[in-house]
Amino acid sequence: MIHPENNEEYKGLTVNSGVEQPARVNPYLNRDRFRRRQLSVAEMVEGIVKGDITILSQAVTLVESINPDHQAKAQEVIEKCLPYSGSSIRIGISGVPGAGKSTSIDVFGTHVLERTGGKLAVLAIDPSSERTKGSILGDKTRMEKLSVHPKSFIRPSPSAGSLGGVARKTRETIILCEAAGFDKIFVETVGVGQSETACHSMVDFFLLLQVAGTGDELQGIKRGIMEISDGIVINKCDGENVDRCHMAATNFRNALHFFPKPDSGWLPKVLCYSGFYGTGVKEVWDMIYEYIDFVKQNGYFQYRRNEQSKYWMYETINEQLRNNFYNNADIKAMLSNAEKSVLNGEKTSFAAAGDLLDFYFKK
Ligand code: GDP
Repeated sequence: MIHPENNEEYKGLTVNSGVEQPARVNPYLNRDRFRRRQLSVAEMVEGIVKGDITILSQAVTLVESINPDHQAKAQEVIEKCLPYSGSSIRIGISGVPGAGKSTSIDVFGTHVLERTGGKLAVLAIDPSSERTKGSILGDKTRMEKLSVHPKSFIRPSPSAGSLGGVARKTRETIILCEAAGFDKIFVETVGVGQSETACHSMVDFFLLLQVAGTGDELQGIKRGIMEISDGIVINKCDGENVDRCHMAATNFRNALHFFPKPDSGWLPKVLCYSGFYGTGVKEVWDMIYEYIDFVKQNGYFQYRRNEQSKYWMYETINEQLRNNFYNNADIKAMLSNAEKSVLNGEKTSFAAAGDLLDFYFKK
């Protein structure tokens, strides 16, 4: 018997002609009239400071743009917003995919908004979104309640370039959101690479979400992440998982004793909760507020923010120097020869690098 798809008359793979478009209803309509007028820097700043979400979104789009004119305008807007920024609490939320970040952000967010009023912005650092061509973190559809909450602003991760570039844009967006009156900022990130270090460098409290049950959660987690965490929370503490969560919490507490005491003077706490059922959420926020009070009193809060500002200044210098070097046409042309001479043993790596740098700086 012949397979239906091998039958000559089979039309399954033919392409249908598209639907013909109707004529324009009004051929005299000038569509350009409806294009959005570009706001000036002053108008943008005024709109942001008034809390206009549409203008805030436009400014964030400028920050994320790779167009040099947009970037220059974004820098002006940021600079003018700077005096209005700084008065928020910034919380980093990290965890491996599936740990429950979006579920938790949804309940944490609604909890703090109910508890203290104000406004919440949810941002993200997700360098992988460059590869997947679509940001996963900070996606509105993943946060059902917050996405329709009138006091929340959710913005997916910027998706351009290196981790440093993505993170810098998120940091600049924090400034804009604060100027727009957002007094709580969440920065979501995946706890699998370097992005949590970048996230840590822009938040006041770094919360690490863990799940229990695999038995190897302590081995699975990189030492570096535990060291930068101000609090560790074990999610999914519900149903049959409760005992396992408490056991995991004990293990984490024991492990934390082996780390040097953090500069903040605060011993990270380990708590269990369930984002899905909303149990233990208040306790997590009691901990965060306790921490904020503690570090505001001992001066560490401001110290950490100052250190972060310095860090970002140097990071930006490093990034721009690097970009400038690698985008230089002469250097681009010389790099492959330099590589060859290192590989065939004519030059050491250091000498080759030295020659390129000498050339670059003497130009
Ligand atoms: P993310 O990838 O870290 O953002 O994780 P999600 O928030 O998307 O959650 C991953 C899965 O875990 C989803 O199926 C959630 O329903 C589930 N989940 C999240 N929080 C809890 C919880 O507290 N308890 C239980 N049982 N499941 C949860």
